[in-house]
Amino acid sequence: MPDSPWPVPPPFMWSCPVCSGLLVGVIRAAQDGGCVDQQDRLCRHIVGAHPDDVPAPHTSGCAICPVYAGRDDGDPGGAWAQHRARGLFMVAPSSWWDDSAP
Ligand SMILES: [Zn+2]
Ligand SMILES: [Zn+2]
Repeated sequence: MPDSPWPVPPPFMWSCPVCSGLLVGVIRAAQDGGCVDQQDRLCRHIVGAHPDDVPAPHTSGCAICPVYAGRDDGDPGGAWAQHRARGLFMVAPSSWWDDSAP
């Protein structure tokens, strides 16, 4: 299985029973054809329960982070933080990245 879409999650996710439980749900759902609801639940949990572990904004190549960074209202719904949290347990889909970037 080269090119697994699943990076090794960081240690804080393994030590948290909620994270590891939701992660199993994400992987199972993906094997059944993919279900973003499970991913969204895990993202929301990470942002809510582990705010210090949410990655910093992507600085290069991400088409999404600059859009949020340019907003006047910051990140009201937590969608930006959830976008960054998703990268902890998933390889970023190509749609995140601007293909024109080097
Ligand atoms: Zn957790
Ligand atoms: Zn980003």
